[in-house]
Amino acid sequence: MKKMSIDQKVLFIVLGIFGLVVLFLGYYFFLMPKFRTEGFVAKVEIPYESTYNVTAGTVCYGSFFHCEPLEATQKGEVDTSKVDNYTVTYVYEHDGKSLELLQEVSVVDKESPTISVNSEELYYCASGKVYNYEATAYDNYDGDVSSNIEVFLEGSKAIFQVEDSFGNQSRVQKDATLKDEEVPILTMNGEASVYIPLNGVYEEASVTASDNCDGDLTDKITVEGTVDTSKAGEYVITYRVSDSNQNEATLSRHVYVYQANNYADLSGKNIYLTFDDGPSKYTARLLDILKKYNVKATFFVTDQNLTKGYDDVLKRAYEEGHTIGLHSSTHSYGYIYSSVDNYFTDLYAIQTKVKNITGYAPMIIRFPGGSSNTVSRSYDGGARIMTQLSQAVQAKGFRYFDWNIDSKDSSSAKNSAQVASNVINQLGNKSTYVVLQHDIKDYSVEAVETIIQFGLSHGYSFQALKMDSPRVEHTVNN
Ligand code: ZN
Repeated sequence: MKKMSIDQKVLFIVLGIFGLVVLFLGYYFFLMPKFRTEGFVAKVEIPYESTYNVTAGTVCYGSFFHCEPLEATQKGEVDTSKVDNYTVTYVYEHDGKSLELLQEVSVVDKESPTISVNSEELYYCASGKVYNYEATAYDNYDGDVSSNIEVFLEGSKAIFQVEDSFGNQSRVQKDATLKDEEVPILTMNGEASVYIPLNGVYEEASVTASDNCDGDLTDKITVEGTVDTSKAGEYVITYRVSDSNQNEATLSRHVYVYQANNYADLSGKNIYLTFDDGPSKYTARLLDILKKYNVKATFFVTDQNLTKGYDDVLKRAYEEGHTIGLHSSTHSYGYIYSSVDNYFTDLYAIQTKVKNITGYAPMIIRFPGGSSNTVSRSYDGGARIMTQLSQAVQAKGFRYFDWNIDSKDSSSAKNSAQVASNVINQLGNKSTYVVLQHDIKDYSVEAVETIIQFGLSHGYSFQALKMDSPRVEHTVNN
């Protein structure tokens, strides 16, 4: 027998092994009973808030030629109301053997937010900024995402764009028109009216500017005007700013430099502040203001109930150099204007009271309602009592004063700004202004500082009435 060569032996062995492997594989794939899986997907994605359906494919147990389908037991839940990754296990059992299939389920949000633009007409600035819009955006997962809307211009289209937290984008475009007509807004820090004493220091409190198109324009503000604190007077500082479309805004601050009150010099313009009906709980505050500016005034006092307890204030007013005049003890029109005797009984009563407090018996008076009042007709029985009284008081050596500026603090003026402007607006170039106020009104007292500051920065002196002061008397009407 012919001997095989080495090469032939090797080939023989290799073919033998190959044959065995083929037999084994054939058995394994086609004949050996086992779990057989078909159509199983290990990773699935499902939309947020959808329903999770079993997608585990089919599994059977047996050979290639005969395989029995199996029912699965599912372990693990998928919560589609939460975007997350979940693992679901499918368990198949047969003859004591089991197969577990793991499926990774991702609940995802792929829905874009909805944008609604509720503006009829959209505008944009030269700078490209879109304005005058009202846009909202709602997302199925994030809810209201309006605050995330980005608005910008592409050509002449306004683009509204928003993205939800999973990167889903929406975009809406609308026609827009170039328009920039709004003037910038100037906002003043500090007061619009500033009062500083002569040789005091003026500190600029600054102004800020903002514009609907250009944003903060504070850097672009120009300031015109200067303040010379060495000269009494009114100075105007004007702030001016323009936006990029030449819309201009201006704002002014008034600075009043006031001088010391010169009550020794009567040659110029003089203001006589007079306060009727007090003293009251506000009179001490008034005295503080007058003292601060070295201003002397005149108090036409009464002895009504509201003055009770303020004798010391009356005394202080006298001692600080103010004139105490007589108004009325009772301030009762029905009593004082019903007869000449009643009037003088009342007048002497208040004179005595003032004398008891101050040691001084005033001869300066003011008729309740003024000498021109007509209310006295209701009580005098046709006796033309104001005609009688205006003569009788002078015959007895009294001097009465009316006023030529009514602050209207007992009629139309209801706050200190109104009282102050009523007085200031009536000041002119006359030598004598007698101002009527009432120190029983807090807002009238609070107006005094502004009136003084204005007067002292506009060349007026403040004086107290004296017996020889210029007569300011109304026409007697009754
Ligand atoms: Zn009065």
